[in-house]
Amino acid sequence: MKITKIQLVKTCPREKQGNRNWQPIFVLIYTDEGIVGHGEIGLAYGKSQEAGLGQGVDYARLILGEDPMRIEALWQKLQRGTFWGMSGGAVPFAGISGIDIALWDIKGKALGVPVYELLGGKYRDSLRCYASQIQLGWKGNGTGYRHIRPEEYAEAAREAMDAGFDAVKVDPIGIDDKGGWMVWDTRGLMRSRQLRLIEDRVAAIREAGGPDLDIIIEAHALTDANTAIQIGKRLEPYDCFYYEEPTQPLNPELFRLIRDQVKIPLASGERIHGRWGFRPFFENRSLSVIQPDLCNTGGISEGKKICDMAMAYDMGVQLHVCGGPISNAAAMQVEVVIPNFIIHETHEYSTIQENIDLCKYNDQPVNGYLRVSDRPGIGQELDEDVLKQNHSQVITVE
Ligand code: MG
Repeated sequence: MKITKIQLVKTCPREKQGNRNWQPIFVLIYTDEGIVGHGEIGLAYGKSQEAGLGQGVDYARLILGEDPMRIEALWQKLQRGTFWGMSGGAVPFAGISGIDIALWDIKGKALGVPVYELLGGKYRDSLRCYASQIQLGWKGNGTGYRHIRPEEYAEAAREAMDAGFDAVKVDPIGIDDKGGWMVWDTRGLMRSRQLRLIEDRVAAIREAGGPDLDIIIEAHALTDANTAIQIGKRLEPYDCFYYEEPTQPLNPELFRLIRDQVKIPLASGERIHGRWGFRPFFENRSLSVIQPDLCNTGGISEGKKICDMAMAYDMGVQLHVCGGPISNAAAMQVEVVIPNFIIHETHEYSTIQENIDLCKYNDQPVNGYLRVSDRPGIGQELDEDVLKQNHSQVITVE
Protein backbone atom coordinates (compact mmCIF):
# COMPACT_ATOMS: atom_id res chain seq x y z
CA MET A 1 0.00 0.00 0.00
CA LYS A 2 1.16 3.54 -0.72
CA ILE A 3 0.13 6.99 0.49
CA THR A 4 -1.08 8.93 -2.54
CA LYS A 5 -2.49 12.13 -1.08
CA ILE A 6 -2.85 13.95 2.24
CA GLN A 7 -5.41 16.61 3.05
CA LEU A 8 -5.11 19.00 5.97
CA VAL A 9 -8.41 20.54 7.02
CA LYS A 10 -8.72 23.47 9.42
CA THR A 11 -12.33 24.23 10.16
CA CYS A 12 -14.09 26.89 12.20
CA PRO A 13 -17.66 25.68 12.60
CA ARG A 14 -18.67 28.35 15.14
CA GLU A 15 -17.40 31.23 13.04
CA LYS A 16 -20.94 32.46 12.34
CA GLN A 17 -21.46 33.06 16.06
CA GLY A 18 -18.25 35.06 16.10
CA ASN A 19 -16.33 32.31 17.88
CA ARG A 20 -12.97 31.73 16.23
CA ASN A 21 -11.41 30.19 19.33
CA TRP A 22 -12.47 26.75 18.18
CA GLN A 23 -10.76 25.49 15.02
CA PRO A 24 -10.21 21.71 14.88
CA ILE A 25 -7.53 20.54 12.43
CA PHE A 26 -7.93 17.19 10.72
CA VAL A 27 -5.64 14.97 8.64
CA LEU A 28 -6.94 12.73 5.85
CA ILE A 29 -4.45 10.24 4.42
CA TYR A 30 -5.46 8.63 1.09
CA THR A 31 -3.96 5.39 -0.23
CA ASP A 32 -3.72 3.59 -3.56
CA GLU A 33 -6.03 0.87 -2.16
CA GLY A 34 -8.87 3.31 -1.57
CA ILE A 35 -8.54 3.32 2.23
CA VAL A 36 -8.65 6.76 3.85
CA GLY A 37 -7.22 7.33 7.32
CA HIS A 38 -8.56 10.08 9.61
CA GLY A 39 -6.49 11.86 12.25
CA GLU A 40 -6.55 15.09 14.25
CA ILE A 41 -3.89 17.64 15.13
CA GLY A 42 -4.74 18.59 18.72
CA LEU A 43 -4.48 22.37 18.58
CA ALA A 44 -8.17 23.26 18.10
CA TYR A 45 -8.09 25.75 20.98
CA GLY A 46 -5.40 28.17 22.15
CA LYS A 47 -3.52 30.17 19.55
CA SER A 48 -1.54 27.70 17.43
CA GLN A 49 -4.04 26.67 14.74
CA GLU A 50 -2.13 28.19 11.82
CA ALA A 51 1.06 26.58 13.12
CA GLY A 52 -0.70 23.23 13.48
CA LEU A 53 -2.04 23.36 9.94
CA GLY A 54 1.38 24.36 8.63
CA GLN A 55 3.11 21.62 10.61
CA GLY A 56 0.68 19.12 9.11
CA VAL A 57 1.58 20.32 5.60
CA ASP A 58 5.33 20.10 6.29
CA TYR A 59 5.00 16.55 7.63
CA ALA A 60 2.57 15.42 4.92
CA ARG A 61 5.25 16.04 2.31
CA LEU A 62 7.52 13.58 4.11
CA ILE A 63 5.08 10.66 4.05
CA LEU A 64 3.80 10.96 0.48
CA GLY A 65 4.53 7.70 -1.39
CA GLU A 66 5.36 5.81 1.83
CA ASP A 67 3.79 2.54 3.04
CA PRO A 68 1.15 3.59 5.65
CA MET A 69 1.39 0.23 7.44
CA ARG A 70 4.91 1.06 8.68
CA ILE A 71 3.68 3.32 11.46
CA GLU A 72 6.70 3.20 13.76
CA ALA A 73 9.14 3.86 10.92
CA LEU A 74 7.12 6.87 9.79
CA TRP A 75 6.80 8.12 13.39
CA GLN A 76 10.60 8.00 13.73
CA LYS A 77 11.02 9.78 10.42
CA LEU A 78 8.75 12.63 11.56
CA GLN A 79 10.34 12.94 14.99
CA ARG A 80 14.01 12.43 14.15
CA GLY A 81 14.14 13.52 10.53
CA THR A 82 12.68 16.99 10.95
CA PHE A 83 15.28 18.77 13.13
CA TRP A 84 12.76 20.52 15.42
CA GLY A 85 10.92 17.28 16.08
CA MET A 86 13.89 16.27 18.21
CA SER A 87 13.23 19.12 20.63
CA GLY A 88 9.60 18.15 21.12
CA GLY A 89 6.97 20.77 21.85
CA ALA A 90 3.26 21.06 21.22
CA VAL A 91 3.29 21.89 17.50
CA PRO A 92 5.74 19.22 16.21
CA PHE A 93 4.17 16.56 18.41
CA ALA A 94 0.65 17.58 17.38
CA GLY A 95 1.73 17.27 13.73
CA ILE A 96 3.11 13.78 14.36
CA SER A 97 -0.07 12.91 16.29
CA GLY A 98 -2.49 13.78 13.48
CA ILE A 99 -0.58 11.63 11.01
CA ASP A 100 0.00 8.76 13.45
CA ILE A 101 -3.72 8.51 14.31
CA ALA A 102 -4.64 8.48 10.60
CA LEU A 103 -2.07 5.71 9.99
CA TRP A 104 -3.58 3.57 12.78
CA ASP A 105 -6.99 4.19 11.23
CA ILE A 106 -5.69 2.91 7.87
CA LYS A 107 -4.11 -0.16 9.48
CA GLY A 108 -7.32 -1.05 11.30
CA LYS A 109 -9.40 -0.62 8.16
CA ALA A 110 -6.91 -2.62 6.06
CA LEU A 111 -7.07 -5.50 8.55
CA GLY A 112 -10.81 -5.11 9.17
CA VAL A 113 -10.52 -4.59 12.94
CA PRO A 114 -10.90 -1.75 15.46
CA VAL A 115 -7.56 -0.27 16.52
CA TYR A 116 -8.03 -1.59 20.06
CA GLU A 117 -7.62 -5.13 18.71
CA LEU A 118 -4.17 -4.15 17.41
CA LEU A 119 -3.19 -2.63 20.78
CA GLY A 120 -3.83 -5.79 22.80
CA GLY A 121 -7.60 -6.11 22.80
CA LYS A 122 -10.26 -4.87 25.20
CA TYR A 123 -9.43 -4.78 28.89
CA ARG A 124 -12.93 -3.38 29.61
CA ASP A 125 -16.18 -3.09 27.70
CA SER A 126 -17.20 0.43 28.61
CA LEU A 127 -15.62 3.64 29.84
CA ARG A 128 -16.74 5.60 32.88
CA CYS A 129 -17.04 9.28 31.92
CA TYR A 130 -17.11 12.60 33.71
CA ALA A 131 -18.80 15.83 32.71
CA SER A 132 -15.98 18.27 32.13
CA GLN A 133 -15.83 22.03 32.79
CA ILE A 134 -19.14 22.48 34.62
CA GLN A 135 -18.24 26.07 35.52
CA LEU A 136 -19.70 26.69 32.06
CA GLY A 137 -22.87 24.80 32.97
CA TRP A 138 -23.88 21.43 31.59
CA LYS A 139 -27.44 21.65 30.30
CA GLY A 140 -27.40 23.86 27.21
CA ASN A 141 -23.64 23.65 27.25
CA GLY A 142 -21.52 25.37 24.69
CA THR A 143 -23.31 28.64 25.34
CA GLY A 144 -20.16 30.04 26.91
CA TYR A 145 -22.05 31.10 30.04
CA ARG A 146 -19.75 31.54 33.02
CA HIS A 147 -21.02 30.58 36.44
CA ILE A 148 -20.17 32.95 39.26
CA ARG A 149 -22.21 32.15 42.40
CA PRO A 150 -21.77 28.89 44.33
CA GLU A 151 -25.49 28.09 43.78
CA GLU A 152 -24.85 28.07 40.02
CA TYR A 153 -22.04 25.55 40.49
CA ALA A 154 -24.38 23.37 42.53
CA GLU A 155 -27.01 23.60 39.79
CA ALA A 156 -24.46 22.65 37.11
CA ALA A 157 -23.48 19.59 39.15
CA ARG A 158 -27.14 18.59 39.42
CA GLU A 159 -27.56 19.02 35.64
CA ALA A 160 -24.57 16.74 34.99
CA MET A 161 -25.89 14.14 37.44
CA ASP A 162 -29.34 14.33 35.82
CA ALA A 163 -27.57 13.55 32.53
CA GLY A 164 -26.23 10.34 34.10
CA PHE A 165 -22.75 11.34 35.30
CA ASP A 166 -21.41 10.52 38.76
CA ALA A 167 -18.20 12.49 38.25
CA VAL A 168 -17.64 16.11 37.25
CA LYS A 169 -14.72 18.41 36.58
CA VAL A 170 -14.89 22.05 37.57
CA ASP A 171 -12.57 25.01 37.38
CA PRO A 172 -13.62 27.02 40.45
CA ILE A 173 -10.65 29.40 40.01
CA GLY A 174 -10.61 31.00 36.56
CA ILE A 175 -13.90 32.93 36.71
CA ASP A 176 -13.79 35.92 39.02
CA ASP A 177 -16.60 37.35 41.16
CA LYS A 178 -17.91 39.37 38.21
CA GLY A 179 -17.79 36.62 35.59
CA GLY A 180 -14.47 37.62 34.02
CA TRP A 181 -12.19 34.85 32.77
CA MET A 182 -8.55 35.10 33.82
CA VAL A 183 -9.14 38.66 35.01
CA TRP A 184 -8.26 38.44 38.67
CA ASP A 185 -4.73 37.62 39.70
CA THR A 186 -4.38 33.93 40.52
CA ARG A 187 -0.63 33.86 41.08
CA GLY A 188 1.65 35.09 43.83
CA LEU A 189 -0.68 34.87 46.80
CA MET A 190 -4.45 34.85 46.74
CA ARG A 191 -6.64 37.17 48.74
CA SER A 192 -8.99 35.80 51.38
CA ARG A 193 -12.11 36.73 49.44
CA GLN A 194 -10.81 34.85 46.37
CA LEU A 195 -10.05 31.74 48.42
CA ARG A 196 -13.46 31.93 50.11
CA LEU A 197 -15.33 32.09 46.79
CA ILE A 198 -13.34 29.19 45.32
CA GLU A 199 -13.97 27.07 48.42
CA ASP A 200 -17.67 27.99 48.50
CA ARG A 201 -18.08 26.90 44.87
CA VAL A 202 -16.56 23.48 45.56
CA ALA A 203 -18.49 23.13 48.83
CA ALA A 204 -21.73 23.83 46.92
CA ILE A 205 -20.93 21.09 44.39
CA ARG A 206 -20.14 18.61 47.17
CA GLU A 207 -23.37 19.42 48.97
CA ALA A 208 -25.45 19.17 45.79
CA GLY A 209 -23.74 15.99 44.57
CA GLY A 210 -23.57 14.12 47.87
CA PRO A 211 -20.68 12.01 49.10
CA ASP A 212 -20.50 9.71 46.07
CA LEU A 213 -19.96 12.37 43.41
CA ASP A 214 -16.32 12.41 42.25
CA ILE A 215 -15.15 16.01 41.86
CA ILE A 216 -12.09 16.80 39.75
CA ILE A 217 -10.59 20.24 40.39
CA GLU A 218 -9.25 21.93 37.26
CA ALA A 219 -6.77 24.78 37.68
CA HIS A 220 -5.87 25.21 33.98
CA ALA A 221 -2.35 26.12 35.18
CA LEU A 222 -3.75 29.55 36.07
CA THR A 223 -2.29 29.11 39.55
CA ASP A 224 1.36 28.92 40.49
CA ALA A 225 2.83 26.68 43.17
CA ASN A 226 2.04 29.24 45.91
CA THR A 227 -1.62 29.74 45.06
CA ALA A 228 -2.13 26.08 44.10
CA ILE A 229 -1.03 25.13 47.62
CA GLN A 230 -3.29 27.79 49.18
CA ILE A 231 -6.30 26.50 47.23
CA GLY A 232 -5.41 22.83 47.64
CA LYS A 233 -5.29 23.16 51.42
CA ARG A 234 -8.70 24.88 51.45
CA LEU A 235 -10.18 22.07 49.31
CA GLU A 236 -8.74 19.10 51.21
CA PRO A 237 -11.92 18.59 53.33
CA TYR A 238 -14.07 18.11 50.19
CA ASP A 239 -12.60 14.75 49.24
CA CYS A 240 -11.72 15.73 45.65
CA PHE A 241 -10.88 13.04 43.12
CA TYR A 242 -7.81 14.82 41.75
CA TYR A 243 -6.34 18.29 41.19
CA GLU A 244 -5.49 19.08 37.57
CA GLU A 245 -2.72 21.37 36.31
CA PRO A 246 -2.07 23.19 39.61
CA THR A 247 0.74 24.96 37.77
CA GLN A 248 2.26 24.94 34.29
CA PRO A 249 4.32 21.82 33.56
CA LEU A 250 7.61 23.48 32.63
CA ASN A 251 9.18 22.86 36.05
CA PRO A 252 8.29 19.30 37.18
CA GLU A 253 9.88 19.88 40.60
CA LEU A 254 7.10 22.35 41.47
CA PHE A 255 4.59 19.49 41.18
CA ARG A 256 6.62 17.61 43.74
CA LEU A 257 6.48 20.66 46.03
CA ILE A 258 2.69 20.91 45.65
CA ARG A 259 2.22 17.16 46.10
CA ASP A 260 4.18 17.24 49.35
CA GLN A 261 1.94 19.96 50.79
CA VAL A 262 -1.54 19.18 49.43
CA LYS A 263 -3.40 15.96 50.23
CA ILE A 264 -5.23 15.74 46.89
CA PRO A 265 -3.82 13.55 44.08
CA LEU A 266 -2.30 15.66 41.28
CA ALA A 267 -2.87 15.33 37.54
CA SER A 268 -1.35 16.92 34.44
CA GLY A 269 -0.56 16.08 30.83
CA GLU A 270 -2.43 18.05 28.18
CA ARG A 271 0.60 20.34 27.86
CA ILE A 272 3.22 17.59 28.27
CA HIS A 273 4.40 15.98 25.06
CA GLY A 274 5.91 12.58 24.35
CA ARG A 275 7.69 10.10 26.61
CA TRP A 276 10.49 12.60 27.13
CA GLY A 277 8.09 15.22 28.44
CA PHE A 278 6.54 12.80 30.95
CA ARG A 279 9.86 11.30 32.11
CA PRO A 280 10.60 13.79 34.94
CA PHE A 281 7.03 13.47 36.26
CA PHE A 282 7.44 9.69 36.40
CA GLU A 283 10.78 9.97 38.13
CA ASN A 284 9.65 12.44 40.80
CA ARG A 285 6.29 10.64 41.16
CA SER A 286 4.52 13.95 41.66
CA LEU A 287 1.48 12.99 39.59
CA SER A 288 -1.10 10.35 40.48
CA VAL A 289 -2.96 10.71 37.18
CA ILE A 290 -1.43 11.46 33.79
CA GLN A 291 -3.53 13.19 31.13
CA PRO A 292 -1.76 12.96 27.76
CA ASP A 293 -3.74 14.17 24.76
CA LEU A 294 -3.26 11.66 21.95
CA CYS A 295 -3.59 14.50 19.42
CA ASN A 296 -0.60 16.45 20.72
CA THR A 297 1.54 13.95 22.62
CA GLY A 298 2.56 11.90 19.58
CA GLY A 299 -0.56 10.00 18.58
CA ILE A 300 -1.77 6.52 19.44
CA SER A 301 1.76 5.08 19.12
CA GLU A 302 3.30 7.47 21.64
CA GLY A 303 0.24 7.73 23.89
CA LYS A 304 0.09 3.97 24.44
CA LYS A 305 3.78 3.89 25.34
CA ILE A 306 3.34 6.77 27.83
CA CYS A 307 0.38 4.99 29.47
CA ASP A 308 2.40 1.79 29.76
CA MET A 309 5.32 3.67 31.31
CA ALA A 310 2.89 5.23 33.81
CA MET A 311 1.94 1.76 35.02
CA ALA A 312 5.48 1.16 36.21
CA TYR A 313 5.00 4.15 38.55
CA ASP A 314 1.47 3.18 39.71
CA MET A 315 -0.06 6.15 37.92
CA GLY A 316 -3.56 6.18 36.48
CA VAL A 317 -4.59 7.57 33.10
CA GLN A 318 -7.28 10.00 32.04
CA LEU A 319 -6.59 10.96 28.46
CA HIS A 320 -7.19 14.63 27.75
CA VAL A 321 -10.00 15.00 25.21
CA CYS A 322 -10.82 18.54 24.17
CA GLY A 323 -10.79 18.32 20.40
CA GLY A 324 -12.99 17.20 17.55
CA PRO A 325 -14.74 13.83 17.45
CA ILE A 326 -11.65 12.18 15.89
CA SER A 327 -9.74 12.97 19.06
CA ASN A 328 -12.50 11.40 21.16
CA ALA A 329 -12.55 8.25 19.01
CA ALA A 330 -8.78 7.80 19.16
CA ALA A 331 -8.80 8.20 22.95
CA MET A 332 -11.47 5.53 23.33
CA GLN A 333 -9.38 3.02 21.34
CA VAL A 334 -6.52 3.34 23.84
CA GLU A 335 -8.65 3.66 26.99
CA VAL A 336 -10.43 0.34 26.49
CA VAL A 337 -7.05 -1.40 26.28
CA ILE A 338 -4.92 0.02 29.09
CA PRO A 339 -5.28 -1.49 32.59
CA ASN A 340 -4.49 1.85 34.33
CA PHE A 341 -7.42 3.77 32.80
CA ILE A 342 -9.35 5.82 35.38
CA ILE A 343 -12.03 7.85 33.63
CA HIS A 344 -12.91 9.36 30.23
CA GLU A 345 -13.28 13.09 29.72
CA THR A 346 -16.57 14.12 28.16
CA HIS A 347 -15.76 17.71 27.45
CA GLU A 348 -18.59 20.18 26.98
CA TYR A 349 -17.19 20.78 23.46
CA SER A 350 -18.07 17.20 22.50
CA THR A 351 -21.75 17.94 23.11
CA ILE A 352 -21.85 21.07 20.90
CA GLN A 353 -23.85 20.37 17.75
CA GLU A 354 -21.34 22.09 15.43
CA ASN A 355 -18.65 19.79 16.77
CA ILE A 356 -20.80 16.66 16.45
CA ASP A 357 -21.66 17.63 12.85
CA LEU A 358 -17.99 17.54 11.84
CA CYS A 359 -17.96 13.75 11.80
CA LYS A 360 -20.06 10.80 10.66
CA TYR A 361 -20.80 9.14 13.98
CA ASN A 362 -21.98 10.53 17.29
CA ASP A 363 -20.70 8.39 20.15
CA GLN A 364 -21.98 9.90 23.42
CA PRO A 365 -22.07 8.40 26.90
CA VAL A 366 -25.26 6.75 28.12
CA ASN A 367 -25.84 6.94 31.88
CA GLY A 368 -22.28 8.17 32.26
CA TYR A 369 -20.67 5.31 30.32
CA LEU A 370 -19.31 5.12 26.77
CA ARG A 371 -19.10 1.98 24.68
CA VAL A 372 -16.34 1.93 22.10
CA SER A 373 -17.52 1.19 18.59
CA ASP A 374 -16.46 -2.00 16.81
CA ARG A 375 -16.13 -0.20 13.49
CA PRO A 376 -12.73 -0.90 11.82
CA GLY A 377 -9.96 1.61 12.45
CA ILE A 378 -10.53 4.35 15.03
CA GLY A 379 -14.29 4.16 14.47
CA GLN A 380 -14.83 7.76 13.42
CA GLU A 381 -14.55 9.70 10.14
CA LEU A 382 -14.68 13.31 9.11
CA ASP A 383 -17.94 14.09 7.30
CA GLU A 384 -17.09 14.84 3.66
CA ASP A 385 -19.39 17.88 3.67
CA VAL A 386 -16.97 19.59 6.06
CA LEU A 387 -14.41 19.74 3.24
CA LYS A 388 -16.85 21.79 1.16
CA GLN A 389 -17.95 24.23 3.86
CA ASN A 390 -16.75 27.77 3.47
CA HIS A 391 -15.56 27.80 7.08
CA SER A 392 -13.04 25.07 6.20
CA GLN A 393 -9.56 25.64 4.83
CA VAL A 394 -8.30 22.58 2.93
CA ILE A 395 -4.70 22.09 1.82
CA THR A 396 -3.91 19.08 -0.38
CA VAL A 397 -0.46 17.51 -0.63
CA GLU A 398 -0.09 15.09 -3.55
MG1 MG B 1 -7.39 20.63 31.62
